[in-house]
Amino acid sequence: MAGATLIVSLVMSGLTFWAVNTIQQDARISDTRFGRDLGLLLASNIAPLIAENNLNEVAEFSGRFYSSTSSVRYLIYADPEGIIHFGIPYSEAEVQNSLTIQRRIQLPDNYATNADLPMVRQHQTPNGEVTDVFVPLQNSGDYLGVLAIGIDPNPTVVASSNLTRDVTIAVFISIWAMVLLGVVFNALTITKPIKELLVGVKSIAAGDFKQRIDIPLGGELGELIFSFNEMAERLESYEEQNIEELTAEKAKLETLVSTIADGAVLLSTELDTVLVNPTARRIFGWDSKAVVGHNILHHLPPTVTVKLTRPLYRLSGSQAAIAEDSQDESLDPVHKHREGDEFRITLSEPTERTIRILLTQVFDQQRTTVKGIAMTVQDITREVELNAAKSQFISNVSHELRTPLFNIKSFIETLYEYGDDLSETEQKEFLHTANNETDRLTRLVNDVLDLSRLESNKTYRLGDVEITRPIEQTLRTYQLNAKDKGVEIIQELEPNLPLILGHYDLLLQVLANLVGNSLKFTNSGGKVVIRAYLVKQMNPVMNQTQKVRVEVSDTGTGIDPEDQAAIFDRFFRVENRVHTLEGTGLGLSIVRNIIEKHHSRVHLISEVEVGSTFWFDLEVYQEPEMLTQVEETTRNK
Ligand code: ADP
Repeated sequence: MAGATLIVSLVMSGLTFWAVNTIQQDARISDTRFGRDLGLLLASNIAPLIAENNLNEVAEFSGRFYSSTSSVRYLIYADPEGIIHFGIPYSEAEVQNSLTIQRRIQLPDNYATNADLPMVRQHQTPNGEVTDVFVPLQNSGDYLGVLAIGIDPNPTVVASSNLTRDVTIAVFISIWAMVLLGVVFNALTITKPIKELLVGVKSIAAGDFKQRIDIPLGGELGELIFSFNEMAERLESYEEQNIEELTAEKAKLETLVSTIADGAVLLSTELDTVLVNPTARRIFGWDSKAVVGHNILHHLPPTVTVKLTRPLYRLSGSQAAIAEDSQDESLDPVHKHREGDEFRITLSEPTERTIRILLTQVFDQQRTTVKGIAMTVQDITREVELNAAKSQFISNVSHELRTPLFNIKSFIETLYEYGDDLSETEQKEFLHTANNETDRLTRLVNDVLDLSRLESNKTYRLGDVEITRPIEQTLRTYQLNAKDKGVEIIQELEPNLPLILGHYDLLLQVLANLVGNSLKFTNSGGKVVIRAYLVKQMNPVMNQTQKVRVEVSDTGTGIDPEDQAAIFDRFFRVENRVHTLEGTGLGLSIVRNIIEKHHSRVHLISEVEVGSTFWFDLEVYQEPEMLTQVEETTRNK
């Protein structure tokens, strides 16, 4: 804009100066014409006087002429040799003395003595421009000298052209002053805010939303600045909110990761540990180690490092490992390009444990770039143990089933093939054994079924049970058996026992198992006692509660302390070592499970060759109404 203003102002000024110049040119031409006419007029009047040598008349006439013509600056007469004889405004005295003081006129080079027209030129003097007119003085063909007249330029034209010039200059200067002012004003009011806006927009584009513009301006620019500041403020608060939300989300995720039962480790693509949860720390023994920020391969147990090094490098996107893998023909195509891997590793320190490690690649949103690796660590020691126990159980059951089946088959086969050769007593004995073995098989199958039902987390509805009833029923069942064996069964039941909370059939099974065992392991002349009595206990809230304790004691073989803990395990039988009495080894497991379903535990006190006592406590049954009443009274307190 400044450039355009400059060009326009220059053109305008040029035009004005051109106009002034033209006017001055015209003025000069008219001055020349005027001077020439004036010179010719004066010369025609003067020439005869000069020819007569009437110098006084010349002086007088010239004086009159000079004083009557305002525009004549000087008048000079010179003879053909160029010696000045007379000049106005020079004094009279000077003219008179001109004979003594000889002065010569300086004629222009192109001055011609015989020219018809006077010679005219302009020249500058300290008093301004002057038009010199040189008129040759001729009289009857004689050259008498030269008349030089100096004519002042037309004062009106000079004044008007000067005025025009001054005005043009003034206009030019004022335009420039205005342009300069405009530039300064622009710089202050437009350029600076726009520059600041540019800086602001750039920093916002770079993600710095703290940028504000503090220039108090009105108008559209002011509105723009205001809108910019508002936008930056909104973006900043939006960002703060986003950061807050992200932090909250991160905290939530970290809490989630830290509370999950599985170990979780997050790795960067450089295999540096980014996040480790407490479970992973515990599994790898990193409780007092700073592993975050370090390469995980330097901290994993050696067995894990050996197994995971290559898969970790492959999953981290390391080109070398991928290339190596793609050349590995032993890997199937799926394996070569999969996102995760699963490993089962046994750790020997500090205790022997089995862990399962799952490696999964973490991708960016577009699922194109690997951002890291998520490592999930599960301690599957218990699972492995349970699996082993299950296999052991199945093999035990198979073994236990095979023994009676084999016996039954052998006896029946013998009877079938050699029945005729056997005596009747022998045949009966064989059938009796086969029958016993069938009973054993039935018991075993029933026990296995009972146990699996009890272990299947099935919930049993407990209700009010009068404990004396299952005890008496058990005694009735075993009375005959005991008599045959010569063992005395005694029941000691406290009178007026309260109802207990339990399951009749299950309790019957417990009592049958315990009394059955006692009879089995007590020799003739021994005693089996069933007791039931009320016990008072202090619970943790310092309230006194009543429970009914049931004991089954015998004066039998007793159980070796080293076997006492194991007898509750499935299929454990001391007889497995001794092989004397029949049994499945499941009875006490069933007892323990049933008592646990009654929210209690079964205890054992035993001494070899003295006897054994199995006991457990049962909760006293509370009427539902009573329960509500109790709850209400507690609430009212
Ligand atoms: P079983 O069918 O063999 O009796 P149990 O689980 O009932 O299986 O008992 C496991 C083992 O515990 C028995 O084989 C026996 O060695 C021991 N045992 C159980 N009760 C008694 C007892 N009253 N006296 C001595 N030993 C016992």
